[in-house]
Amino acid sequence: QQFTDYRLSDEITRALGIMKYESPTEVQQQVIPRALEREDLIVKAQTGSGKTAAFGIPVIELIDWAENKPQVLVLTPTRELAVQVREDMTNIGRFKRIKATAVYGKEPFSKQREELKQKTHIVVGTPGRVMDHIERETLSLDRVEYLIIDEADEMLNRGFLADVEKILQQLPKDRVTMVFSATFPQDIERLCQKHMNAPARVAI
Ligand code: AMP
Repeated sequence: QQFTDYRLSDEITRALGIMKYESPTEVQQQVIPRALEREDLIVKAQTGSGKTAAFGIPVIELIDWAENKPQVLVLTPTRELAVQVREDMTNIGRFKRIKATAVYGKEPFSKQREELKQKTHIVVGTPGRVMDHIERETLSLDRVEYLIIDEADEMLNRGFLADVEKILQQLPKDRVTMVFSATFPQDIERLCQKHMNAPARVAI
């Protein structure tokens, strides 16, 4: 497979060229075509496999630039991963002028509140801080169409699953959900069963 097989818009294709992504990695080959069809996906993949672009490319392709509220929510277990994902999303979406905002603990709430007042297409964050923003009504998730849970097993290890569950209850039911994880312990399987819609499974 080649990126041209996916008939991506010029804006995305140009961005991939600048990033020197010449051909899709295995996880990208498995995920991109299905995500473009808005299928729910359970993906078993490791860090370093190219998983960020596997969800980033299709989701950014499908985003409606004109919508003012966030359409994409990415949950990550750590601040470092949130920052990395925000950066990758910004790079993929540069020519589509996609704005991505990261929210995480140990950074002043007020700074993030100001950022969230601006138009942003994508919010990337750790569950605790995302929950804070929801509760203080500084983040509105009623237009979210794509939810990505990244490194789900790490969320479980860090005890974030209860927050993830609470956030899931705030999201529109009519959405696409993708769960990425290196392993699938029972608690993650249960979460997928409860909150996904006939998911397809991909293992790399
Ligand atoms: P990730 O698994 O998302 O952390 O990605 C691992 C590394 O691979 C990152 O440095 C990406 O920039 C890079 N990468 C992702 N997809 C591609 C691709 N199709 N071609 C070349 N590099 C890539």
